[in-house]
Amino acid sequence: MKVNEIILRGIPAAPGIKVGKAHLLGGEDYLVQKSSISEENIPTEILRFEEALIKTRKEILSLQEKVAKGMGTEHAEIFDAHLLVLEDRMLIEEVISRVKKEKIAIDYIFSEVLKRYADVFAKVEDEYLRERISDINDVGKRVLRNLLGKKHMGFEELNNPVVVVAHDLSPSDTAMMYHKSVIGFVTDIGGKTSHTAIMAKSLEIPAVVGLETATQQVKEGDPLIIDGNSGLVIINPKQETLGKYERKKEKIRDLSKIYITLKDLPAMTLDGRQVKLAANIELPQEIPSVKEHGVHSIGLYRTEFFYMNRKDLPSEDEQFEAYKYVAEEIKPESVIIRTLDLGGDKFLSQLQIPHDMTPFLGWRAIRFCLARPDIFKTQLRAILRASQYGNLKIMYPMISGVEELKQANKLLEESKKELRARKIAYDEGLKVGVMIEVPSAALTCDILAKEAAFFSIGTNDLIQYSLAVDRTNEKVAYLYEPTHPAVLRLIKSIIEAGHKAGINVGMCGEMSGEPAFALLLLGLGLDEFSMPAIAVSRIKQIIRLVNFKDAQDIAHKALDLSESKEVEKFAKEQLHRILPKFYLKS
Ligand code: PEP
Ligand code: MG
Repeated sequence: MKVNEIILRGIPAAPGIKVGKAHLLGGEDYLVQKSSISEENIPTEILRFEEALIKTRKEILSLQEKVAKGMGTEHAEIFDAHLLVLEDRMLIEEVISRVKKEKIAIDYIFSEVLKRYADVFAKVEDEYLRERISDINDVGKRVLRNLLGKKHMGFEELNNPVVVVAHDLSPSDTAMMYHKSVIGFVTDIGGKTSHTAIMAKSLEIPAVVGLETATQQVKEGDPLIIDGNSGLVIINPKQETLGKYERKKEKIRDLSKIYITLKDLPAMTLDGRQVKLAANIELPQEIPSVKEHGVHSIGLYRTEFFYMNRKDLPSEDEQFEAYKYVAEEIKPESVIIRTLDLGGDKFLSQLQIPHDMTPFLGWRAIRFCLARPDIFKTQLRAILRASQYGNLKIMYPMISGVEELKQANKLLEESKKELRARKIAYDEGLKVGVMIEVPSAALTCDILAKEAAFFSIGTNDLIQYSLAVDRTNEKVAYLYEPTHPAVLRLIKSIIEAGHKAGINVGMCGEMSGEPAFALLLLGLGLDEFSMPAIAVSRIKQIIRLVNFKDAQDIAHKALDLSESKEVEKFAKEQLHRILPKFYLKS
C-alpha cells in the first residue's frame, strides 16, 4: 500500500533531528465487549482477573525500580499510589461480586467499575483526590491490557527508540523523558517555553510542540522525522526527504565539531568585551552533561522539578543534599538557585493548589511562597546550609514590586536566625537577586536595584506578561515575539537600571539561548546569558566573531524598528552576515 508523506508544522521547542517510529502516549483506549458467561465459567473469569492483577503489580514494581535507579527513590514514589489502586479491596470485591451476580465477562465489569470510580473522583472537591483519577486510569488500562492479553504499550518499558506523540505531557510525564528509548517529543498543545519544552531542551531531546492535530494524524508505529530546529514533524517520510535530513544531520555534526573547539575559550568579543555564559538546569542529574558542554556556572536552577513526581514535599535535609552536590560540583563558579516557582503550568497535587482561571496570573511562585512560609523557609534553610559548600546565590521568581522582595528577604533573615539557633553555619555573604519577569518589576528596576544584588531577566514570562500572550497556548504562539519593540525596550531599561545601580544583569529566559537574538542582547549590554547547556557553544561562537561596538550598533538600529518581524529579520540578517557558513537556517 502506498503511503503519503505528511508534513506537520508546529513550534520548535528543543533542537535536534531524529528519525524513529511513533509511539502514541495515552492514546490506547480499549473497547471492551459486553459478553455473557455461563455459571461454570465464573471461577475461570475470577482467576483471569487475579492473574491480571498479579501481572500488573509486577509490571509496576519493575517500573518503580527503573525510575528509582534513574532518578532517585523519591521520584519513584508516585507508583505507590498506583499500587494502592491495585490493592483496593472494595474495587476488587465489587468486580468479583458483580461478575457472580450478573454473569458478564470480567473485562467488561472491570471497565464499568473503573469508570464509576473515576466519575466519583472527578466530582470530589479535594484537588489531591481528583488528581488520583489519572492513577486509576493508568492502573486500569494496565489491568485491562493484561486481561485482554494485549502487548504492553507503555513507553517506559519500550526497548526500541521511539518518538513520543502525546496531546500534552504532564509534569509527571517529564520524568519518563529520562528513558533511553525516547528520542523525541511531539505534542498537540504547548508553546516554546512550556515546561515540556524546557525539560526536553535540558535533556537534549528534540521536541516539537503545538502541532494541534499530531495525535489524530500520527498512528502508532508510523515512521517519523522530528525536526526540533524548524518545528516540523514528517509522517511517512519519502526516501528523498530522508536523504535531505541525512544531509542536515551531517551539517549539525560538522557544527558540533566546531563547537568542541570552543569549549574552553572565553565568551569574549573581538574587541575584548567578556560576558558570562551559564547553564539552566532543572535537576542536579544534569550537572555532568553541563560540564561536558564546557559550561562552568549555573545561571538558573529551577528547583520546582524537585517537588514534582512525588507524594510528599522534599525535606530540608534532602534539599540540602541536592543543593550541596550542585554547589560542590560547580565551585568556585556560582550557582543561582531560584526559589520554588510553582503554579502556571507547574503544579503539585500534594499542595492542593486550586486551579486558577488564569494560572499564570494567579497563586504562583513568590506569591505562593510568601503565603506558605513553612514550605519557603524549609527551602531557604536548605540553600543557606548548602551555601557553605560552594558559591551559591538565591533568586526569587515573579517579584512584582519591592514589597515582595522585602517580605521574601524577611523570611530569609528568619531562616538564617533559625540556623544560627541550631548552630549551623552558612555563607554570610550570600547574594540575593531577583528575576525580572513581570512588567511592574521591569518598570521599577531602579527601586528594586537598591535591594537586590543582581537581576536576571526571565523573558519567558516577561514576554507573556508584557504582550498578554499565554506562553503555553499554541493558538496565540504567533504573538509571542521576543523581538516586539515593547520587549526590547523593557530589556534595555532593565539593563540600564541595573548598570546604573552597579549590579549585574543576566537573562535566563529561553531568548538568551536563541542565536538570532545574541547580537541584540550583547549590544544591549547584557552581562550574563543563561540557557540550556546545549545552546551555549552556539552563542559563544557568535559572541567571539563580533565587535561589541558593532553589536551595540545593531541593537541601536533594532530599537528604531517598529515591528517585531522587521526586528527579527534584521537580527537574522546581521547574524547571517557574521556567520554565513555555519549558521544553520531553519
Ligand atoms: C522565565 O520566565 O524566563 C524563566 C526563566 O522562568 P520559567 O521559565 O521557569 O518561568
Ligand atoms: Mg518565569
